[in-house]
Amino acid sequence: MKLDRRTVLGAAGGAVLASVAERGKASPVTPMRRIAVEEAFAIPEQLAALKALTATNLQDADVPFWRMVTHNDTPFTTRIRRQLLDLDEERIAIMDANGVDMQVLSLTSPGVQMFRPDEAVAMARLANDRLAQAIARHPDRFAGLITIAPQAPAEAAKEIERGMTRLGLNGVMINSHTFNEYLDEEKFLPIFEASSALNAPIYIHPRAPSAGMAEPFMKHNLETAIWGYGAETGLHGVRLIVSGLFDRFPNLRIVLGHMGEGIPFWLWRIDYMHGASATRKKLGKTPSEIFKDNFAITTSGMNWPLALDFCRQALGPDNIMWAIDYPYQDSPGATQFMNNVAVPDAEKRMIFSGNAERIFSIRTR
Ligand code: MN
Repeated sequence: MKLDRRTVLGAAGGAVLASVAERGKASPVTPMRRIAVEEAFAIPEQLAALKALTATNLQDADVPFWRMVTHNDTPFTTRIRRQLLDLDEERIAIMDANGVDMQVLSLTSPGVQMFRPDEAVAMARLANDRLAQAIARHPDRFAGLITIAPQAPAEAAKEIERGMTRLGLNGVMINSHTFNEYLDEEKFLPIFEASSALNAPIYIHPRAPSAGMAEPFMKHNLETAIWGYGAETGLHGVRLIVSGLFDRFPNLRIVLGHMGEGIPFWLWRIDYMHGASATRKKLGKTPSEIFKDNFAITTSGMNWPLALDFCRQALGPDNIMWAIDYPYQDSPGATQFMNNVAVPDAEKRMIFSGNAERIFSIRTR
């Protein structure tokens, strides 16, 4: 038998592997489609508005990070701004180098949620138009989530409809609290009505803690990704669970990043304490049933086999999707983590792409 490159690769892992290698992918293992689902971009108008906002004395826990990113030129901030604004060459080159077939893009946190309602509504539309244009330029490489302004709930519902039906986008992105309010407040109902009617999953992405909880996080700069983002977004998820929202909208799907923002680890105790309470709203299902039926989690920024193993056992493999958190975390680390983690191939395929194709209605190839 003649041992050329194709024969060797084919013997090692099947014909699909050979075709992947022939496309020039850097990673020779695991012939699977890789869809990364929490990948950030920005538009110049958003960064300019964040720069103006963080030049003021506004008291908000998101201000220090965005003041640093928009007002300083360091190797980190110049790279982050450049990579957020790029939806073409550099981003796709990094995807190619790491075997990433597709990024599901979303406007970087805090989206438009710190801006005046009229300004936020206009900027959300602009961001969604630019996103649709980027997807049109690279239809096999990008999908995207709709930016909305929750501070204008009726307009947000309209934008969800425009994004799903006219722009062909794949779901909705909301960056946790909006002016210190959470989505279980009655005023946000139009957003869930639209999402439920259009089968649009809502990705709840972190931002820094709301005003009432932020102060103790600030001393050691804990308000960002090290702890504050997860504490804020985990609280948001638990509020939605116990609010009765999923009795009202049984088909609603919420997506949480960062391996579920801590909630999976707490499910037993949340169930126990919810069952023991006479003061909270009665629910049609237990909190953990709601979490398994109505939520999905992603691995964004949490490349830890032990945490993935726990979530696979606690939630089942159907509701876990792979993500990088580009450009804030590195693509090689996220790809190598999932390439190498000890998970059966059928399940790994679901996490790398099958679940994202189903949940975000992404065309299979
Ligand atoms: Mn992120």
